[in-house]
Amino acid sequence: MTRTILLIDMNAFFASVEQAMNPALRGKPIIVCGRGRTVVTTASYEARVFGVKTGMNLYQAKQACPQVIAVEGDMSRYIDASHNIQRIAREFTDQVEMFSIDECFLDVSKTCRNEVDPQNIARAIKHTIREKLGVTCSIGIGPNKVVAKIASKMQKPDGLIEIREKDIPVLFALMAVQKLQGVGVGRHISEKLMSMGITTAGQLGNTPLEKLMHHFGIMGYRLKRIGEGKDDSPVDSSGGNELIKSVGHSHTFPRDTRDISIIRSYMMMLTEKVGLRLREYGLMGKTVYCTIRFGDFTSWGAQQGLKEHIRQNREIFFVAEQILARAFPLSKAVRLVGLSISDLKPRDTQQFLLKEMEKDTTLAEAVDDINKKYGVFTIKASSVILSEKFGIRPSCGMVSKQALKIKV
Ligand SMILES: [Mg+2]
Repeated sequence: MTRTILLIDMNAFFASVEQAMNPALRGKPIIVCGRGRTVVTTASYEARVFGVKTGMNLYQAKQACPQVIAVEGDMSRYIDASHNIQRIAREFTDQVEMFSIDECFLDVSKTCRNEVDPQNIARAIKHTIREKLGVTCSIGIGPNKVVAKIASKMQKPDGLIEIREKDIPVLFALMAVQKLQGVGVGRHISEKLMSMGITTAGQLGNTPLEKLMHHFGIMGYRLKRIGEGKDDSPVDSSGGNELIKSVGHSHTFPRDTRDISIIRSYMMMLTEKVGLRLREYGLMGKTVYCTIRFGDFTSWGAQQGLKEHIRQNREIFFVAEQILARAFPLSKAVRLVGLSISDLKPRDTQQFLLKEMEKDTTLAEAVDDINKKYGVFTIKASSVILSEKFGIRPSCGMVSKQALKIKV
């Protein structure tokens, strides 16, 4: 079944939001900086003309463009704007996935099967966002998320590009592999590909799978698919990240078990899912809750409050293990395990802003990035592999959308 996927990518998002809110900044070169006005988080297009870039310090930015105006970032504004974009997107389809604070995927396949031109949908979205929020975006349209993302990067700012299935071979034959950054082919991978003589996306798609697997392991499979312009990953609309009170997941085993190592392994897998979602939302939690459902459908659950908010997988798993230990020894075989984290608060603004530039500095986030781009659990802790051998039934996300006051 053919799909039609849109990616809305906001242009110079933080800077555009500031310009939309303050007319005095419109049309001017501005930079949005972290607290203490240290590093450029986003430069407006007017500043980019002068060579001002994300990651520069204030001094470098002033050197490049003496008249540049530095604005201290206010994450709550960007989160608000992000929620508004999500709301607008939901007027067009219920299949909406916030991919990052300024990017969102829409699956409009159903609408387009009724002879609706996706470009008309994209134009309507762009118009609505401009009218309501006063900011522009680039929209990419493709048969899957990878291609939609590539299309969104082809015209900035205020772009609209559609790549049809039939256009892919010609387009990819000409496209440098570096252009695949942002869809999962990072700088190191593209450098390695170039050293192997693979310089275009099309060549990547034509490279034998064995060769790619030899150099990149399991990732080789995903790389080949990207090179072919193929991607089956669905638009995950389960996130709905407004007003989150708790983030949790549960898993039903393919068959009931008393094996502690298997239960523990599933708990680790749940930890990865919960941790990923927490970090996606820029949140931290202070209460961890574990639940077990037995074969006879009776349940056990316990929670632990913490002194400090946590967000890293290993921190969450450490607490989950302690809670789980209270359930042992088991009197009955287990059918399901669940994990959730509540008592949430947004991460520190400055940290969050800095994270935008230092995305790859922490292992967990690097893994999240890869898993997000290549599919969940491409990279995993070894005990998760055990749960995979045992089997996985579709999970049930349990993000409860109740009142969360985001105070940043
Ligand atoms: Mg953007």
